[in-house]
Amino acid sequence: MEKDSEISNASEEQDSQIEGDILEIPSEITLSDLANLMDVNPVELIKEFMRNGFMLAINDVIEFDVASPVARTFGYILDLVDREPSKQAALDSSTQDTSEDLESRPPIVTILGHVDHGKTTLLDNIRNSNVVDGEAGSITQHIGAYQVDFNSNKITFLDTPGHQAFSSMRARGAYLTDIIIIVIAADDGIMPQTLEAIAHAKASKVPIIVAINKIDHPAADQEKVKRQLSENDLLIEEWGGDVICVGISALNGDGVDDLLENILVVAEVSDLKTKSSNDVKGIVLEARTDKRKGILATVIIQQGRLEIGDHLVLGSHKNKVRAMFNDLGNPVTEALPSSPVEILGLSILPNAGDSISATSDERMMSQIIKDNEKDIDDSYQLSEIHSGIESSNIRSVNLVIKTDVQGTLEPVRTSLESLNSEDSRITIIHAASGGVSESDVLLAAASDAMIIGFNSPLEPGALTLATQSNVKLRSYNIIYHLLDDVTKVLKGLEDPVYEDVIEGQATIRATFDIGKGVSVAGFYVNDGKITKDSVVHIYRDQKKLFEGDINTLKHLKDDVRDVKTGFEGGLTVDGFNDYLEGDIIEAHKTVVVE
Ligand code: GDP
Repeated sequence: MEKDSEISNASEEQDSQIEGDILEIPSEITLSDLANLMDVNPVELIKEFMRNGFMLAINDVIEFDVASPVARTFGYILDLVDREPSKQAALDSSTQDTSEDLESRPPIVTILGHVDHGKTTLLDNIRNSNVVDGEAGSITQHIGAYQVDFNSNKITFLDTPGHQAFSSMRARGAYLTDIIIIVIAADDGIMPQTLEAIAHAKASKVPIIVAINKIDHPAADQEKVKRQLSENDLLIEEWGGDVICVGISALNGDGVDDLLENILVVAEVSDLKTKSSNDVKGIVLEARTDKRKGILATVIIQQGRLEIGDHLVLGSHKNKVRAMFNDLGNPVTEALPSSPVEILGLSILPNAGDSISATSDERMMSQIIKDNEKDIDDSYQLSEIHSGIESSNIRSVNLVIKTDVQGTLEPVRTSLESLNSEDSRITIIHAASGGVSESDVLLAAASDAMIIGFNSPLEPGALTLATQSNVKLRSYNIIYHLLDDVTKVLKGLEDPVYEDVIEGQATIRATFDIGKGVSVAGFYVNDGKITKDSVVHIYRDQKKLFEGDINTLKHLKDDVRDVKTGFEGGLTVDGFNDYLEGDIIEAHKTVVVE
C-alpha cells in the first residue's frame, strides 16, 4: 500500500491538537490486529477505511500512516514503535497466504424476507443499476443468479429469493450463500415469513444484513422495525449489536448503494477465498431443457476456472462443456469463482444442488468420478465420528417448534429450555405458531433438527417431505409427553416411549346427514393416509376442535382399512358431527417404542 504523504502531514498536525489514548503499533499491522488493539469491531474499522478511500480485508496489512487518521476517529493516537518481530510476523503471514494458493472471490448473496416486502424489486433494482461495464443494454436473462459490478468489485446475487429455495439447497449440502439480506418492509414490519427467514438465516450461520425497505412509503416506520428486530434477537449496530441494518427504497433506489457497500464490507470481513486450482468445482442452481439447444444448467463456480471444452463430471456421468452463457445471455469462454454461468453440453438433466467437477484433461475424468465416490464415503464416516464425539460429550438436539396458538408457544419453549443441563443442550432453531409447513421441514432438514408440533396441524406436503428427507416429526397435545420424549432423546435413547406419528392429512369437502344426528364427512387425502384405527384431530382455521376415534371409514360404498393420498373417502367420528367444508382432518397413531 502506498504511503500518502498528505494524510501523514494532516495527521501530524492533528495529533498535536487532539487528545486520545495512545496506542503503540509497528510500522505495519493487520487490520484485525488493529481492531483488536483498539477493541472495535473489525466491520466498523473496515467501513472507516472505506470512508477514507481504502478497500481493505480483515487480514490486509496496513501501514502506520494509513492507520493513524482512521484510529483517531475511534479516539486513539497511534505511536510508531518499530518492532521487527511483528513486522516479520506480518510478512510471514502474508507469505503464508500465498503459499496456501488461495485467491479472493466475490460474495454470493441471497435475499430472504416476507412476501411483498420487495425482494424482487430490490434484485431488479440492483441488477438494472449495476450491469457489468460494457454490457448495459443487453437483454437480461433469468438463469437463477446474476453478477453486478459495484465500486470495481463483483457481487453475485441468487435471484430465486425466499428461504425455501435457500434451505432446500442447504439440505442437499449445497452451501452457496456467503451473505443473507433480510428484506423487511418499513410499512409492514416483521411478519411471520420474516421470522422464518431469520430462523433459516441464523441456522445457516451465514452473516445477515437487514435491509429495511420501502422507506419512501408514507407509512414507513423504521424505528418500529428496529425495535422488532431487537425483540427477535437481531440487535443492529445502531443499538449496540453487530447486525448491519440499512434503510432502502428498492423502488427509487435510495440507500441501495449503501447496502451494496455494506455487502462488500461483510465480504471483506469474511475474507472469502477459494483454492486457485485447475480442478473446477461448482453447484447446479437450476436446469432446463431448451427445445433447440438441449439441456442447459446454471452453475455457480466455487473453485477454479471453467472453460469451453472442459470435461465435466456430474455424478458418474461424463460430459463436455460445449458452450457457456452469462446472465445476460452472452456467450462466454470461461467462468471464474462465484460467477453464475449457463452451461450447454450436459447429457442428463441435473437437479438443483448437484455438484459438478471439471477438468481440461480428459484422462482425469475417471479419477474425478472415483474421488467423488470416495468423498461420499468419507463424509459418511465423518458423520459417524461426529456423532461418536457428541455422545461422549454434550448431547444436543436441535428443535423446530410449532404450536397451535401464540399463547402456548412461550410455555412450550420455556419448558423445553428448562431441560438444558451441563451435559445436554436444546437448541431451538425456530419456534412459531401455526401449522407445520414444508418450510419447517426444509429448515429442520438443513439444520439436522427434529420438529415438535404441539396441537399444531400439518400443512399439505409437510409429511411427505419429512418422510423423504428423514426428518423426525412428532406431534403432542400433552406437555408432559413432549418433555418426557425430548428428555429421552437428550439422554441418548434414540426412540421415545410415546411417539405420536402423524399418518396423514385430509380436507373435508362435503358433509352428509345420515339421520339420528350422525354426519358423514366426505374428505380428500392431501398427504399420507387415513387409517381406520387412527385417532383423528379435526382442525378449523388452524384451531383444534376435536380429537377422537374413527367409527366408520369408507371409500365409495366400501368399508376400507385406509384411504391414501389423492383419494376421496367418507368417515364418521365417535362424538363429533359438526363438520364444515374446509375442515382439516389429521390422522394420528400412537406408537409405543420399546
Ligand atoms: P417480493 O414478494 O418480496 O418479491 O416483493 P416485490 O418486489 O414483488 O414487491 C411487492 C410490492 O411492493 C410491489 O408492488 C412493489 O412495487 C412494491 N415495492 C417494492 N419495493 C418498494 C419500495 O421501496 N417502496 C414502495 N413504496 N414500494 C415498493
